[in-house]
Amino acid sequence: MKKNVGVVFGGRSVEHEVSIITGLQIMENIDKDKYDVVPIYINKEGKWLTGNGLFDFENFKHNNFEDTEEIMISPTHNDFNLYAIPNKAGIFRKKIVGKVDIIFPAIHGTNGEDGTIQGLFELMNVPYVGSNVLASSVGMDKILMKDVFKSNNLPIVDYTWFYRSKWIENREEILEEIENKLKYPLFIKPANLGSSVGISKAIDRNSLINGVEIAIRYDRKIIVEKAIENPREINCAVIGYDENLKTSLCEEPLGWQEFLSYEDKYVNSNAKYGGEERRRIPADIEDEIRAEIETIAKKSFKAIDGRGNARIDFLLDQKNKIYVNEINTMPGSIAYYLWEGKGISFKQLINEMIDIALKVYDEKE
Ligand code: ADP
Ligand code: MG
Ligand code: MG
Repeated sequence: MKKNVGVVFGGRSVEHEVSIITGLQIMENIDKDKYDVVPIYINKEGKWLTGNGLFDFENFKHNNFEDTEEIMISPTHNDFNLYAIPNKAGIFRKKIVGKVDIIFPAIHGTNGEDGTIQGLFELMNVPYVGSNVLASSVGMDKILMKDVFKSNNLPIVDYTWFYRSKWIENREEILEEIENKLKYPLFIKPANLGSSVGISKAIDRNSLINGVEIAIRYDRKIIVEKAIENPREINCAVIGYDENLKTSLCEEPLGWQEFLSYEDKYVNSNAKYGGEERRRIPADIEDEIRAEIETIAKKSFKAIDGRGNARIDFLLDQKNKIYVNEINTMPGSIAYYLWEGKGISFKQLINEMIDIALKVYDEKE
């Protein structure tokens, strides 16, 4: 019998729109001979919806959710049924509007890629695709992530971090600490976001202060790191679990100015939804560098105990020295474009991700 895959997308993060695209792409490319899709959309207010109205991109553009129904999610419902929210008249009999056997979260960033939703699926005891609670949360926090990479001897740029509360109390002390430890230019980032939101570059104390003031709007922890000057960016995906890992092709995202902005990355990189592709695949790098990147990508994935399919992003300096910049445990479009060149179609990639989830779930029992 076909299994029902609940594709969960949207979510309350700044990457809401990107997640809609990833969700729609997964639903379009899933192996229909093996799986039936149950679309589950988390809207910006945090409500969960299901229904046929969620297959069509036009409906999202026009905010039209007529053919959908709000559902109730509870960690104690481990029969995996989706219950309609009782209407205002107070119908107490539970109405089942869907049933899922496995969840495919397609949410980027806060509340989707950071372990929170994974925790819900653990409590519901439902198999789910991708990294678990620990890997997701460590991968999401740029400070913890870099701490873990560092203790695994992976190459990263020098960094330091501080709390927003301390900045508000005593910014002079923090500025001194940063300037004692790191030389300009610097990058300032909120610890727990993605898609370049809240990130800026500083060339002196003034721009550092401005950058921190921007970053503290988004997070209570701020990371400041040494900027690589005119870096090349190379990304590589890893799929698997435990020691069973393989790497994708490498890409070089192109067309960026100072650094990749939200628009550069997503609006322009989803041809079908109104933009143009701006990446070189495979990246034009020497075999030796590529091999080293692949090795570091696998080590980074293992360092956080990753699972499923993650994209590891690198920075290359002018001398081709490699730095791991970050790991994205739920990359945009699940980085399918990096796997196609390795002979793994979008459909196969989804199949593999689901197979991993089911295998890990079965081993747990
Ligand atoms: P996000 O999770 O938001 O994608 P990143 O750490 O990847 O955050 O930073 C966004 C972009 O900023 C990177 O893709 C890169 O272009 C640039 N960048 C980040 N850190 C550095 C750095 N230390 N040196 C040079 N460029 C950087
Ligand atoms: Mg990121
Ligand atoms: Mg990034």
